Amino acid sequence: MSVTLGVLGGGQLGNYFVLAAKNMGYRTAVLDPDPYAPAGVNADSHFIAPFDDMQALTELASLCTAVTVEFENPPVSSLDFLAPFVEVHPSSSCVAIAQNRKDEKIFCESIGLSVAPYEVLETQKDIERISRLGVTRTHLDPRRMPLLMKTSRLGYDGKGQQRIHSLTDIATLWSNVENVPCVVEQVLPLDAEFSIVLARSRTGEVAVFAPTHNVHIDGILDVSTATTHHTSIETEFFRTGEQAAIRIAHELHYVGVLAVEFFISGNKLFVNEIAPRPHNSGHWTIDAAITSQFEQQVRTLAGLPLGETTMTHHAVAMVNLLGDVWKNGTPNFQIALEDTAAHLHLYGKSEATSRRKMGHITVTGNDLPSVVRHAIDLRTAIVR
Ligand code: ADP
Ligand code: MG
Repeated sequence: MSVTLGVLGGGQLGNYFVLAAKNMGYRTAVLDPDPYAPAGVNADSHFIAPFDDMQALTELASLCTAVTVEFENPPVSSLDFLAPFVEVHPSSSCVAIAQNRKDEKIFCESIGLSVAPYEVLETQKDIERISRLGVTRTHLDPRRMPLLMKTSRLGYDGKGQQRIHSLTDIATLWSNVENVPCVVEQVLPLDAEFSIVLARSRTGEVAVFAPTHNVHIDGILDVSTATTHHTSIETEFFRTGEQAAIRIAHELHYVGVLAVEFFISGNKLFVNEIAPRPHNSGHWTIDAAITSQFEQQVRTLAGLPLGETTMTHHAVAMVNLLGDVWKNGTPNFQIALEDTAAHLHLYGKSEATSRRKMGHITVTGNDLPSVVRHAIDLRTAIVR
């Protein structure tokens, strides 16, 4: 009888996991309340139920030998519920840290990594405390605007974030998010953003993908690039970031695919956030690495040796296709399909709402500037 691998969450990341698992001979099961969830449609079994539904979790556990997550927000209690019956990777304690910005920052600082100066905002008293802060080198400077208020939990693609332009606005902005626990961060002048995606096996073996340079617009990833050639300054930052990401994985006894987002600001490296799963910025690995991040996820979950992460091209660029690309009707995909350097990916979502991730285009080639230009031009060209 073949082995079934399970995943909590049925979005595009879960779907790529399902497809990778199928390719490797596994059966798959998805738990997601949305009957139209992309991964649910392709999985062998789709439990359409809330993520904390005991009945569905019990059935998932009896069907699967191992379960993973495709987003950071399934209830930790669901992972704890599953753990006595099936392998659960990453563990609930890793997911718990990644789903709470405060815990994530405390953890990073505890192992000597820098994060953007921040303060927690959990009580009315915190507002007064933040307003009274003095100027120090490492702490939040409340006089240097803007600041960024982020809900500690459930934020993604810039959701749950508000810019603070004046200390007098904090109370109102906080009430906009129903006074849930938040962090208030210094907005750093960013020189660059990059991410490290890696896989760590049950035996502690680590395989790291090429560092990915990321450009976000309005808090949503817009373009990701990777290349085999870096300047010496890039090499230095990337190496430090890679070491930090590996450190995080080892300290957490992490098993699975892990993504760490970094900021470079004023010649300093800061950890932004940790994702306990494959990452949008790692989508290029599907078309330009020997093993994709999703195959690695399957390998870590099934207890297989890790795959080779080397790039198959010298340069790759990935551009996201948000719902906005559909604003004048279905894009002209023919142009992308006829382009031999491009790979068009569509996630099968029926509703193309603004800012929703609908798909992406990857362009491979020999040098970075030309693949970036090519990918961006292609995205422009397909809009009606
Ligand atoms: P999400 O969970 O929505 O990805 P992030 O914390 O990663 O949230 O923020 C999204 C993007 O917003 C970042 O990639 C970065 O471009 C910008 N951003 C977030 N925090 C800061 C900050 N402290 N300083 C400057 N830019 C920031
Ligand atoms: Mg982010």
